[in-house]
Amino acid sequence: MTKDQLPPRLLTRRRALLAGAAAVGAAGTAGLFTTFAGDEPVRRATTPSPSPAPVAGPQARTAHKPSSYRLEPLMGYGPPRAAPRRTPVRRAPMLQVSGRGRRMVLTFDDGPDARYTPHMLDTLREYDIRAMFFVCGEMVAENPDLVARMADEGHVVGNHTWSHPLLTRLRRREIREEMERTSDIIEESCGERPAWFRAPYGAWNRAAFQIGAELGMDPLAWTVDTLDWTTPGTRTIVDRVENGAAPGVVVLSHDAGGDRSQSVQALRFYLPRLLDSGYHLTVPVRHYV
Ligand SMILES: [Zn+2]
Repeated sequence: MTKDQLPPRLLTRRRALLAGAAAVGAAGTAGLFTTFAGDEPVRRATTPSPSPAPVAGPQARTAHKPSSYRLEPLMGYGPPRAAPRRTPVRRAPMLQVSGRGRRMVLTFDDGPDARYTPHMLDTLREYDIRAMFFVCGEMVAENPDLVARMADEGHVVGNHTWSHPLLTRLRRREIREEMERTSDIIEESCGERPAWFRAPYGAWNRAAFQIGAELGMDPLAWTVDTLDWTTPGTRTIVDRVENGAAPGVVVLSHDAGGDRSQSVQALRFYLPRLLDSGYHLTVPVRHYV
């Protein structure tokens, strides 16, 4: 069943959960332990800047050049992993990323969806940009080729559970199954287990943090929510991204779960503008790896 075929009651529940999810995000006090390749870890405030840097600014975009990501592992140099590495158990998700410069991370949740994800991948490829896709296992089962394409083009594929449930209402065994099945199918699709996890609706609990750590994943939330799933209009999505732009920001959008035409269109608009404003759109690397 695709997200579009979800019965109305689930869509309604999703709306009802919005306030709660936003509260989780707003109340989060997680420190920042994530950094970018080549940067010293820097601990930053976790609240978005009240005065985000203006999008308009000096032209700092550099000429595109052939990507070298195939030669440089995104997760750093090290011995090949034979088994999932346990990561530290956190008590709150990371909300943004640290590092020098005007770096931002674009994340897309709930896919892949054959109607929208390829267009977003095309746009990212056009500008030689890497992003994060938090995929649902049941969507991966329908579109394994798209997950392979994500990884092949240098994007980070994260775990967003199998069926997008509210984890706080599940038993521990069910949470594990949702997460482990999804890591398994991601590995089957692209050859690598995910290193990042995001709870549906931003609704985390201790079991999710513990199981995620056992499966070798760090929890990543977001700083700026485009609320694109409410289909507020392309212009509104663009405004939310550009108004929220600031160093370290993690942007949440969706490439599935409904009609994501506006999200596809918005990316085409805000991506070049962010680059023109000097933002470096990239993906995080865990500094303790
Ligand atoms: Zn989601």
